[in-house]
Amino acid sequence: MGFGMSWFKRENGDFPGPANGPEGESAGDGERNVRTEGLWIKCIGCRQIIWKADLEQNLSVCPKCQHHFKLSARRRIEQLLDPGYELVDTGLRSTDPLNFTDVKPYKLRLSKAREQTGLDDAILNAVGQLGPHPVVLSAMEYGFIGGSMGAVVGETIARNVDRARILRKPLIVVAASGGARMMEGVVSLMQMAKISTALAQLDDAAVPYICVLTDPTTGGVTASFAMLGDLNIAEPGALIGFAGPRVIEQTIRQKLPEGFQRSEFLLEKGFLDAVVHRKDLKPYLIRALDFMKP
Ligand SMILES: [Zn+2]
Repeated sequence: MGFGMSWFKRENGDFPGPANGPEGESAGDGERNVRTEGLWIKCIGCRQIIWKADLEQNLSVCPKCQHHFKLSARRRIEQLLDPGYELVDTGLRSTDPLNFTDVKPYKLRLSKAREQTGLDDAILNAVGQLGPHPVVLSAMEYGFIGGSMGAVVGETIARNVDRARILRKPLIVVAASGGARMMEGVVSLMQMAKISTALAQLDDAAVPYICVLTDPTTGGVTASFAMLGDLNIAEPGALIGFAGPRVIEQTIRQKLPEGFQRSEFLLEKGFLDAVVHRKDLKPYLIRALDFMKP
């Protein structure tokens, strides 16, 4: 449905920002940032133009096609927890243990990401009320180097897992991650074991853990805590996987089926317990916790 205005027909790329606007900086590795300085945004799902205020009022879900846009960690916490929650474990920063440089120094990537997100790393921990239930919540920030998991993300989540066990409050983790943070090498891979160990202790203590997988949840995060919940639920249409589809196709020399690595496909194959629309997420979590309560 064209309206004859040239910019409605634009099929490639995003809208140009203001002439003197800031240059879009890469959010993750090779990930192009959608510039959102304007009042309008083009939906990735249906390619229609949406008024940004409408989108925000609708929990960042496209009112036309229900495409779920990415949420920042802060907005995620605001959507899930009642007002009056408390942010905890802030102020942890990566020490760049390998003094790593690829096309640019890791230290520079870190300072840019801090500037852009206002966070110290790709995670926020909070303690608060989810309706009637006191919970501990960790929300990942995709805008911080692709939500990658290094030592700080690992330590921050592990602290919340321990907090959940000690306080005997259910743990909820909202995952959004490109996987382990390559710039921290083996240190980032060790986080998988570290968090999984803490989760095993939480399980022994019989404290519930629910993981919410959002777009995208991949790599070492999928391979560890994102799939270890007592309940693993996902938002609609989220990309969830370990390796990317191209790598898999080249390895097994087969064409992958339609919708492979999306929430609905994983639900059908038994990897997930439910796919829940963002507007239903909070009531769903409350009902799940009601059910799990001793
Ligand atoms: Zn849409």
